[in-house]
Amino acid sequence: MNYQKLITEVYGDVQQMGLCGKVASYIPELASMNVEKFGISLITTDGTVYEVGDTYEKFSIQSISKAFTLAMVFATEGENLWKRVGVEPSGNPFNSLSQLEYENGIPRNPFINAGALVVTDIIRTKSEVPLEDIIKYIHSLANSNTIASNKKIALSELKNSSRNKALAYFMKSFGNIESRIDKLIETYCYQCAIEMTCTELAQAFLLFANHGKNPTTREQLLTTSQTKRINAIMQTCGFYDEAGEFAFKVGLPGKSGVGGGIAAVLPGKFSVVVWSPGLNQKGNSLKGMKALELLTTKLGSSVF
Ligand code: GLU
Repeated sequence: MNYQKLITEVYGDVQQMGLCGKVASYIPELASMNVEKFGISLITTDGTVYEVGDTYEKFSIQSISKAFTLAMVFATEGENLWKRVGVEPSGNPFNSLSQLEYENGIPRNPFINAGALVVTDIIRTKSEVPLEDIIKYIHSLANSNTIASNKKIALSELKNSSRNKALAYFMKSFGNIESRIDKLIETYCYQCAIEMTCTELAQAFLLFANHGKNPTTREQLLTTSQTKRINAIMQTCGFYDEAGEFAFKVGLPGKSGVGGGIAAVLPGKFSVVVWSPGLNQKGNSLKGMKALELLTTKLGSSVF
């Protein structure tokens, strides 16, 4: 398969469609992103890199960080993790409070904000330096030591984090959060504000295409079964309340973020990252979704 030709063709086709979308503005610092940016990086499991467009520019990975924190915590907690967070799609907005109430403080899945807060809480209770540990983990996967959290973006989110604090306090009232809420939200905002390029992110996501092996060190970080489970959660819950549409049109497990990134994998074959900051109404990158739809359609291959 000529992947370079494939992604170059997809890139050109999407550029011609004139899709635009809206940059996320509820985190004020994200509102200044250039909506014209667009990059695609695809890395096969043998490590060959294919790139087109703005693949060397760092962007805010936002909720894509939740896939990495989930991998860290699942490896140490094992099945016990599912006592504190579920694995069902929510069908509600990612920051919904109401569902938590009738489910007694156990979030539906690790990718809605409440679930991600539980996961980050577990990291916090095990580590003196949780943010450093998250960044170290991503460094190792991406084989890059230039990955960092953008303080301006983190502080911008922190200032606007009443709803995430509400989710955390609510879960604490059910005994499902141990950390101090201000500290937890701080770690969470800094984790979401981590910046990576398309290529760094695709490299790190090879973990999920490679049956749980660290793509850099080849160390087995997750068992095959754990990797299958994370991929299943990405498939069913990784795209806000558009996961069904993403499975229908693209057919790859993945995770999106409001910074405009989408990272996805075809297990055993490749990881692919598309970045374009213009979002659709559900919060997924408009060009990103279209590009991945074209990619699997032209390829004639997906997990289905
Ligand atoms: N930091 C963002 C929030 O909690 C993550 C949003 C996202 O990418 O889904 O609102």
